[in-house]
Amino acid sequence: MDFIKKTQLMKIAITIIVLLVIGLILIQWRLSLKTPVGPEISLYLHQQKKVITIPIEEYLVGVVMAEMPASFHSEALKAQAVCARTYTYYKLEKQPGHPQKAYICSDPGHCQAWIDPHKYTYQEKMTRVQTAVDSTCGQVLIFEDEPINAVYHSSCGGNTAAAEEVWGRSEPYLTSIKCPCPELSPHQEKNYTFTKRDFIQKFNVKKTMPLLTKTNRSASGRVKSIMIGDKTFGGNSLRQKLNLPSTRVTIKEERQQIIICCCGYGHGVGLCQYGAETLAKQGYNYHDILKYYYQGADLYQIQY
Ligand SMILES: [Zn+2]
Ligand SMILES: [Zn+2]
Repeated sequence: MDFIKKTQLMKIAITIIVLLVIGLILIQWRLSLKTPVGPEISLYLHQQKKVITIPIEEYLVGVVMAEMPASFHSEALKAQAVCARTYTYYKLEKQPGHPQKAYICSDPGHCQAWIDPHKYTYQEKMTRVQTAVDSTCGQVLIFEDEPINAVYHSSCGGNTAAAEEVWGRSEPYLTSIKCPCPELSPHQEKNYTFTKRDFIQKFNVKKTMPLLTKTNRSASGRVKSIMIGDKTFGGNSLRQKLNLPSTRVTIKEERQQIIICCCGYGHGVGLCQYGAETLAKQGYNYHDILKYYYQGADLYQIQY
């Protein structure tokens, strides 16, 4: 008798477990079939050299995952989601010359980095990013009724750069502002040492004494131009040729060596990600953060 009862109980338990598993599978399936939101855009994958079509809000999840640590505060992630969306809409109107007329590409040096969210395995991080994108769905920053050029970078080093300091053209909403990022940023002062011979070869210049002269700095302290040997170079080409994290540098020339002390990471214009993280931890919401880094821009809701 006991044996029959036990067998029946086992059967009931197994049935319940099977039903629960089927239920969970169905829930997952429903979630994965979530209706795509927003218009579809064409994205050029620069590594695979192919173009895919993807709904904009789904694309943004991959951008935020690639561009900001998912462990950042939820308000910093929301600010990043709005920047990425705004930058995408800004690019859609610019026709930036990608293969097959794609609107945007996955090259962080040209447009925005992107990773395929479907191939991402860390569910908790994925959920945090998805929530940031969903809760700001359709929100963009505008100035005079147009999406702004919402550029962003990792860490400015204490002051962001105005657009004209870096690219030679100004935007009223991309000015230099004080930033609290040194509180949290890992990109603090770091020394890079080169021999003078390295410099002469890399820049293909004649040897002079001293080798580096006439350093011209922008308002936020970045190198605008510098004379190396007999030629003048812009701050950006100094950064690129020496593979430096930023143009916020101080330079020391000693006998046969040149020591460059570099601070921050990235071009320094627009939203500073570590600054956004610091402000979020101080209690500011994503709206406050965006208004701080893009002064004069307004938040606008696109209706999908
Ligand atoms: Zn591009
Ligand atoms: Zn900063």
